[in-house]
Parts: sequence; structure tokens; C-alpha cells
Amino acid sequence: MDGTNWTCPFCGHYQTLTENKFDIHDHGIFVGKNKHGQTTYRVTAIGCSNPECGEVNVQFFFGYGNYDELGNLRGIKEVIAGGNIFPESSAKPQPNFIPEPLRVDYLEACRIQNLSPKASATLSRRCLQGMIRDFSGIKRSRLIDEIKMLRNQVDDGSAESGITVESVDAIDHVRSIGNIGAHMEKDINVIIDVDPEEAQALIELIELLFDEWYVARKTRQDRLESVKQIAAAKKKAKSSSPASEGEAPEPDEGEGSTEAA
Ligand SMILES: [Zn+2]
Repeated sequence: MDGTNWTCPFCGHYQTLTENKFDIHDHGIFVGKNKHGQTTYRVTAIGCSNPECGEVNVQFFFGYGNYDELGNLRGIKEVIAGGNIFPESSAKPQPNFIPEPLRVDYLEACRIQNLSPKASATLSRRCLQGMIRDFSGIKRSRLIDEIKMLRNQVDDGSAESGITVESVDAIDHVRSIGNIGAHMEKDINVIIDVDPEEAQALIELIELLFDEWYVARKTRQDRLESVKQIAAAKKKAKSSSPASEGEAPEPDEGEGSTEAA
């Protein structure tokens, strides 16, 4: 794994793994005659190199061992079961400026995705509705009507700024998969059977909208704020420099130094 690129599931920090940051153990399982034959387990652990995080990602796998001609275990060739132990789901870290109820629904949807796709999809639909209501201000009794109104607003240019055609296309695309479209026409609290792929598609849609709506809006706001601060600092420097020539504080970095007094 040395040199492998890895993204920490706790902090989202992208990094290249070095030898001292990961650990892999493979062990044969000896339980006598059983339906699987010779099995093995693998434990992997990766330490995040981001000093502000410092978390350890742990995975456990049970499967068929890969043995060489001398009978030595050389890893795991087919996984029967297993996955993340810590953190327990594949949920991606989401920033605090996304409303907490949305983040909680998303996290829960990820945690139960494999255990109960239909419960996961129910939480995802509720999260999607909450997001449309919060971000666009649209509120109808049925999710499908909210999506249709959002589409109309995007088409006629009256949608909340930041809601792109692409993001609404993504919602429509997910609606067209399997039974999800029909689910969106029902009350969001009605639990309907879905398969794991449909639950996954809804989770990925939520991740995309978190990014395209909330994260993009925050980035725009931060840039605007930084431009405002630069402008205010310039104004302040300009108004104070003629009166106290020679003693005026040096402008902050990023300021032009070509202005002659
Ligand atoms: Zn981390």
C-alpha cells in the first residue's frame, strides 16, 4: 500500500500512504470441517497523517485465503463478509455549515445502507426533501411536487442562486432509476422496498447536492467576504496615510505597494 493515494474517511484529507501509516494482518482460521473450507481473516488499519485529525481507519474482512504452494498464507483472495469497523459507515465527512438535521439523516442513511436499504432510502428521501425546502424555500406536501417546482424555477431562471441545472438534472436522473421515481410520489415517511443500488444512488445524490449547493455557496460567500475585507483595508490605509505620513501601518500582504504617497 506504500505510495497508494488515500482519503481519510474522518477528515476527508487526501494523502499518499507511507509504510509507517498502514498495517495489514492476515490470519488463517482453523475451526475444523466447515462449509467454507480453509478461511482467513484480514485486519487493515491506516493512520491519518493530518495532525488535526490523527484518526485510525480500521477494516475487517473474512474470506478465502490465498495460499502459495508451500501452504503459506499470502493474503485474502475472496471476501465473504466484512468492511469498515471504524468509522462504521462510508459516510463522507460533511462540514458544519450544512444544517444538522440533514447531516444526521445522511449519516444514518449511510450507516444502515447495507443492513436495510429501504430504511436507508427512506432517510435519504427525507434528507432530500429537507434540503430542497431549506435551500430553495420550496415547500409542498409531496416531494415529487417540490422537485417539479424546482425544475420549473431553474428553467424560468427564478431559482435560488446556486441551484444549477446540473444539480436538478441529477435529481431527475436518480428519479429515473428503478422504483425511486415512484417512491418520490409517495409520502416520504412510507417505507418502500428498494435494492442496495437504489439506496446507494440516493446517498450519492445527497453528497452531490451537499457539494453543489451548500459547499459551493459557502465558497462564494467566503470569497465575497475576503474581497470586502481587502477593500475595507485599502480604504482604511488610504484615509490614514496622508495624515500620518511615515507612520502609517504597512498594508497587509496582497496590498499593492506601488501607491506613492
Ligand atoms: Zn483524517
